Amino acid sequence: MADKWVYLFEEGHGGMRDLLGGKGANLAEMTKAALPVPPGFTVTTEACNRYYQEGRTLFDALKAQIEEALGKLEEKTGKRFGDPNHPLLVSVRSGAPVSMPGMMDTILNLGLNDATVEGLARLTNDARFAYDCYRRFIQMFGDVVLGVPHYLFEQVIDDVKAQRGVRHDPELGADDWRAVIARYKAIVQRHTGQPFPQDVKAQLFAAVRAVFDSWNNQRAIVYRKLHNIPDHLGTAVNVQMMVFGNMGNDSGTGVAFTRDPNTGEKRLYGEYLTNAQGEDVVAGIRTPQPIETLREAMPAVYEQFVAICERLERHYKDMQDIEFTVERGTLYILQTRSGKRTAQAAVKIAVDLVKEGILTREEALLRVDPDQLHQLLHRRIDPSAPRDVLAKGLPASPGAATGRVVFDADEAEAWAKRGERVILVRPETTPEDIHGIVAAQGVLTSRGGMTSHAAVVARGMGKPCVCGCEALKIDLRARMFAVGERVVREGEVITIDGATGEVLAGEVPLVDPVLSPEFHELLAWADAVRRLAVRANADTPDDAAKARAFGAEGIGLCRTEHMFMAPDRVPVVQEMILAETREEREAALQKLLPMQQGDFYGILKAMEGLPVTIRLLDPPLHEFLPNLEELLVEVTKLRGDPQADPERLAEKEALLAKVRKLHEFNPMLGHRGCRLGLVFPEIYEMQVEAIFRAAAQLVREGVDVRPEVMIPLVGHVNELARLRKLVDEVAQRVMAETGTSVAYTVGTMIEVPRAALTADEIAREADFFSFGTNDLTQMTFAFSRDDAEGKFLPHYLESGILPDNPFITLDERGVGKLIAMGVAEGRKTRPNLKAGICGEHGGEKRSIDFCHRVGLDYVSCSPYRVPLARLAAAQAQLRHGSGFDNLSENR
Ligand code: PEP
Ligand code: MG
Repeated sequence: MADKWVYLFEEGHGGMRDLLGGKGANLAEMTKAALPVPPGFTVTTEACNRYYQEGRTLFDALKAQIEEALGKLEEKTGKRFGDPNHPLLVSVRSGAPVSMPGMMDTILNLGLNDATVEGLARLTNDARFAYDCYRRFIQMFGDVVLGVPHYLFEQVIDDVKAQRGVRHDPELGADDWRAVIARYKAIVQRHTGQPFPQDVKAQLFAAVRAVFDSWNNQRAIVYRKLHNIPDHLGTAVNVQMMVFGNMGNDSGTGVAFTRDPNTGEKRLYGEYLTNAQGEDVVAGIRTPQPIETLREAMPAVYEQFVAICERLERHYKDMQDIEFTVERGTLYILQTRSGKRTAQAAVKIAVDLVKEGILTREEALLRVDPDQLHQLLHRRIDPSAPRDVLAKGLPASPGAATGRVVFDADEAEAWAKRGERVILVRPETTPEDIHGIVAAQGVLTSRGGMTSHAAVVARGMGKPCVCGCEALKIDLRARMFAVGERVVREGEVITIDGATGEVLAGEVPLVDPVLSPEFHELLAWADAVRRLAVRANADTPDDAAKARAFGAEGIGLCRTEHMFMAPDRVPVVQEMILAETREEREAALQKLLPMQQGDFYGILKAMEGLPVTIRLLDPPLHEFLPNLEELLVEVTKLRGDPQADPERLAEKEALLAKVRKLHEFNPMLGHRGCRLGLVFPEIYEMQVEAIFRAAAQLVREGVDVRPEVMIPLVGHVNELARLRKLVDEVAQRVMAETGTSVAYTVGTMIEVPRAALTADEIAREADFFSFGTNDLTQMTFAFSRDDAEGKFLPHYLESGILPDNPFITLDERGVGKLIAMGVAEGRKTRPNLKAGICGEHGGEKRSIDFCHRVGLDYVSCSPYRVPLARLAAAQAQLRHGSGFDNLSENR
């Protein structure tokens, strides 16, 4: 309903995420399921958007509906808003359609003023409790709504504690809190020029506004950008009756995950704080106790909670992250949502839920983010390496990270921009630190538990994190921390192990990961589903073997120039390039031939039974020669040196002349790719001979080899026609000489826009197409792939001119159109044309989805990305069916 801006919890349901936000929809769903949820209502995301359209004002219809909902809440609870005899207090919380933990604002205990606080004290018979609530409210409202700096309030508490000679908040009594309140109110008056607002409705409206405004605070904007969350969604606001975890030892508050969010193990995993309010846990102000504390203190409540956890997990078919409060022995559920988890846990939970009959295999495949899978392949600390352990904290997010210590988020960002690897070390983190966490390799905190901000955020980002490392004495001003006698200063290197919680001095060697049975099981399901084949880009037998172990079904790109770069080969390659005559060049090539043959032998053998696409030489030749400027400096020095050996000078001058001759202003558009093979056919002849000699040798050894020879940078069919002839002739000759028969194909990269545009012609000469989307992106956008990211591209991305970096995520509208056209036109000529992709995009999940839709046969990516690609390909199949959608109209 377009003009309905407010929903009571009982009016909504779980399917209304877009309108009610994730939290609101879940609260509605739990209310429907008769779970013990304190009553309340949700102001919709549409109201938030309308609020912005109205120039950030709460429009009349919204205010009226809020008041009406408030009236119903009063009826239901038997309490009244602003009534000193039976005060209704509410929490006001943000809740976007997509979870953005901690990014936006929350206000608790709203509805307190000088009169209602007395009522609360009388009703609860607990003045200390009432004043504590009121001071919390002034503090939060002051900070969030009135913009009073948080630390001003903190200082007051520190002062009062110092005066009273106590260390912990609960040691302060009613009179102490009353004194704190007086000082808080003075701070508000000084800072805003107004007394603290006593009108409870005005408080509520101001809080709703503040939550709407927090949709556009700095950290929320950064978070949205990081997680690709659209800005237009807006946030809902949930207004809910307060329940109190700080009413004595039969009260408390906690957070629990229905499974271990680090390992995925099926066990209740959580934390509980007796006599506390929610923000104490989340902010990590007091280090909480394990959830078992609740079991011991209130077994019946614990049992009830366990049963609810089980129910919620089955209902949502996923591991839940649940916030709850116990008020004088009564359990309330405040929130449930799918819990953030490590990659390892994500895989285990998805597989276990299938085994428990809760999910189908297909659902499980869609549950795991391919990027998370990728994290599992990250390295960890070598268990056999010596460990100089400085301290041990909580193992909050697994993985190991090494970096220089920095003590604030801005520094972390600045250092990282300079190319330093840093570890962000803080007493605790807050949502303000998010940019520092993004920039850091890992996070280390001295306070806070496994569900503290640092832990949750790092886990979500797949960054190693150690938190609650209380042995660390951090001195932010001196930029150092001490552990006992030892001192670590800003800039010194440490390593953190997020799996054990250890903090180690210096850099520690890392090892490859061990993959779980669930990892392999999930990928086996993915393989059964996906249509796209997955190959790897690999240039050495070792990489080929690794790729195969990760499940690659062939090599999609072997860049032969990488074989030329080995230090012992560069002199021979230079000899070939510097040769003045064809004879001289051939002599040098003859030296390279056995080396290349050995390379191809190794790779073809490692990939026995699978296709191996070998690309002939691609980069400009000057890449193998000394740098022009450096050479110029050297020659100038030699010329000015009377002692210099004249022969050496002449040699260097000749080299300089040659390098100058080969120098190009636009080498990426220069003499490279097939243009080299056409002008110097002897280079390609040598490479093809090496491929077929290696293949012949393997055939004789009984090995099944499937070489595919690929010509780079073709833009015109005539280029390919000539080079195909060259390949066929050399192949036939070698086969005749060796008396073997090798099944092979010849194809081309499609990486020049003209090739995509004339794919029908090019397909006459090609058995296969492989889209080289690195060059195709470069040439379609006319963005240098070597320079753009260091120059204007960041500006393009920050200012929203481009939604994504096109060198990472394939640009569907432009480059994608060329691919779609290339495949369609190519298959018009040759219906069984095999088509794949071997640019970096072949290992990126959204681009893989596109490759599926456009009807490619395979993607090829770096070996470590193969598992990610297998899962992304399966997800594409599950989302879109068998693909070819975009092609059907063209075919
Ligand atoms: C490409 O251009 O996409 C490609 C795979 O080739 P290279 O990166 O070697 O230019
Ligand atoms: Mg290329």
